[in-house]
Order: sequence, then C-alpha cells, then structure tokens
Amino acid sequence: MTSTEGSDCLFCKIVAGEVPADIVGESPSAIAFRDIAPKAPVHVLVVPREHHGDVSALAASAPNLLADLVEMADEVATDLSDGQYRMIFNVGPKAGQTVFHVHAHVLSGTQLGGF
Ligand code: AMP
Repeated sequence: MTSTEGSDCLFCKIVAGEVPADIVGESPSAIAFRDIAPKAPVHVLVVPREHHGDVSALAASAPNLLADLVEMADEVATDLSDGQYRMIFNVGPKAGQTVFHVHAHVLSGTQLGGF
C-alpha cells in the first residue's frame, strides 16, 4: 500500500467507477481498460481492484493477485487481438511509472519493435 491509496489514486477511482474508463475486462479481483494514450493498436492496462503500489509490492503481499493479472492480460489479448502480446510493469519513476497503483501494460495488435 502507498499514501496514494483511495481518494488520491486515479486507478482506485477507475475501479470504483468514479472516473470513466473504456473497460474491456472484469473479474472479481481485477479490471482491464484501454490506456488513454495508446502506444499500440491494443494497449490495455490490467489492474487489481485492491490497491498495491507496484508489482514488487503486489508479488510480496498478494502473489495470487499477480497471477490473476497475468490471466486477465492473456484473456484480453486473445479477445482483442491474436493472443500475442508484450506485458510491461514499470516500477518506480526512473522506469517511467507515473501511476502508483500496480498495472500491467498489455501491448498487442501489431509487430512490436525490439528493445
Ligand atoms: P505508467 O507510466 O507505467 O505509470 O503508466 C500509466 C499509464 O496510465 C500511462 O500509459 C497513461 O497513458 C495511462 N493513463 C493515465 N490516465 C489514464 C486514464 N484516465 N485512463 C486510462 N489510462 C490512463
């Protein structure tokens, strides 16, 4: 958990339905919605309903939820594309993390470039 949990956390607000999002997948533990600034034809964010600051915190405290995120990423990439995708977790500002509620970026729908 971090200090951004709850009323200050954008993705908690999306989970609560207080901020609109283009939701493409839902389960009891996670939701998936389209990124507002897509970097690929399919660019979806998969987040747990529970607030955890980043994937490191999630893996330490609720590894079952991390497995749920991977399962939903696979489902979304199969529903919206051909089931081939890149999954990215940014951890920390130096890695580009700007929203401190763990989210998997799921990129698909085109030939992705190498790193
Ligand atoms: P990161 O930089 O890894 O923390 O990723 C945060 C992502 O959230 C970025 O790719 C943003 O484009 C995306 N984003 C920010 N606000 C929204 C929003 N309201 N709805 C959907 N995606 C958002």
